[in-house]
Amino acid sequence: MNLSGRGVCRCDLAVVGTGMAGMSSALFALNRGLSVAQVGTYGESIFASGLIDLLGVHPIGDRKEWENPWDGISTLVRDIPKHPYAHLCKEDMRAAFEELVSFLQGAGVDYRIAGDRNVKVLTPLGTSKSTYGIPETMWAGVKALERKDPCLLVDFEGYTEFSARQIAESLSKRWKGLETLRLRFPESGTGGELSPLQMAQALEKPSRCDALAQAIRAAAGPARSVGLPAILGIYNSRRIHSDLEKAIGIPVFEILTLPPSAPGMRLLEAFSAGLGRRSVKGFYQSRVVSARQESGGGFLLDLQNPHSNSRIRCRGVVLATGRFLGKGLAADRRRIRETVFDLPVVQPGSREGWHREDFFDPGGHPVNRAGLETDGFFRPVDDSGTPVYERLFAAGSILAHQDWMRMKCGSGLAVTSAYGAVKGFIEVAGLKKRKNVQCRMSNVQFPRGRKK
Ligand SMILES: Cc1cc2nc3c(=O)[nH]c(=O)nc-3n(C[C@H](O)[C@H](O)[C@H](O)COP(=O)(O)OP(=O)(O)OC[C@H]3O[C@@H](n4cnc5c(N)ncnc54)[C@H](O)[C@@H]3O)c2cc1C
Repeated sequence: MNLSGRGVCRCDLAVVGTGMAGMSSALFALNRGLSVAQVGTYGESIFASGLIDLLGVHPIGDRKEWENPWDGISTLVRDIPKHPYAHLCKEDMRAAFEELVSFLQGAGVDYRIAGDRNVKVLTPLGTSKSTYGIPETMWAGVKALERKDPCLLVDFEGYTEFSARQIAESLSKRWKGLETLRLRFPESGTGGELSPLQMAQALEKPSRCDALAQAIRAAAGPARSVGLPAILGIYNSRRIHSDLEKAIGIPVFEILTLPPSAPGMRLLEAFSAGLGRRSVKGFYQSRVVSARQESGGGFLLDLQNPHSNSRIRCRGVVLATGRFLGKGLAADRRRIRETVFDLPVVQPGSREGWHREDFFDPGGHPVNRAGLETDGFFRPVDDSGTPVYERLFAAGSILAHQDWMRMKCGSGLAVTSAYGAVKGFIEVAGLKKRKNVQCRMSNVQFPRGRKK
């Protein structure tokens, strides 16, 4: 990384965005020896559940659920050939997950990917949600839900958004052996509101963890496992989970909570610490306010944050700025815009076409599939299919032809398209030849439809 010139950071790749797609892009690029600068404002990630969906539903109109997401993807790319997954081969997608899981493990956050099938986790509503990658701290819950073994569900005074009794009641017809327990959170004083993030931070203190374990053990009875809201720490979830299981004597699992969630926060912390150690040049709490291409094909990005302005000069950019919530897309009365480069956005011809008449239309709304269409290297293209810039790539939810919320492919799409975009950059920029760039990706065949 070179910071020569007043306030100008020079690097191979600038990643714009700090959501799942931006973090994954930075990771994959750093792991391959590229110098990387990353820009974005933290915040959105902690709203995510911490689950990694790959593909749950397709076609969304039929609400067809897939037990094997890979079979689902084969059907999906046949039915929607412009879906971003069509630009990826399955070897690359699997490699992306492997690399992510191994990185997270190194950062103390264990994830489990259940091979070729989706698994079901409990929600705070007492329903189940199908997903692909889950925190290890939730795994015993997957097993308990499958087997319907006797189980104790715990909730806490002052945490009103999570009711063990409500979960048990919703499941009572399907799962007989559910008992519930309401506890006062250890050392929480005389009451008041509690949030999952507060409790997760508090459990970092071993004495609180011990006290919680004693209270649960005393009430566990015939339970074969214990479920409690996702509060098992932020920085030391592996230790806290293992200490609780040892002290209680049966498997313990976390249940999803409403955002902001502790598993989401763990991901954010793991990425921040792990990417920092890999020498990312982070411009956090900054935004790219203008971007232009320079002669030679690289880019100059102007950044703004409340305290200072800076610039990045880079050979390529991965744009991972998300949709409307992330602010990668913005809508006015007439059209949807991409906010950094003003790239062409695939969208319905007029605003009237954004939504279907019925808000609950199972087929979803066209506006949710608006976004950037790319070539096989994940470069945004214009109407004629030509890349707008040779070395500009896009990843994550900003991509067109997908409805991550209904298809249940949010974080999986973010991670795998990040892998595709970094691979695209290395190939297009000719960096495979550079000695210090480790391009394990290079042995993989070109996926279908990729332009050489
Ligand atoms: C409430 C909620 C629950 C979710 N639950 C799940 C789930 O259970 N399973 C699952 O798989 N997925 C889930 N997701 C989705 C998943 O988190 C998203 O699909 C994924 O985060 C998409 O990430 P992204 O990186 O593309 O975009 P985002 O997360 O939106 O990130 C966009 C980033 O771009 C940055 N940015 C935007 N404009 C600029 C600019 N000009 N300059 C610099 N930075 C900029 C923003 O600051 C932000 O960091 C959930 C998402 C939400 C919101």
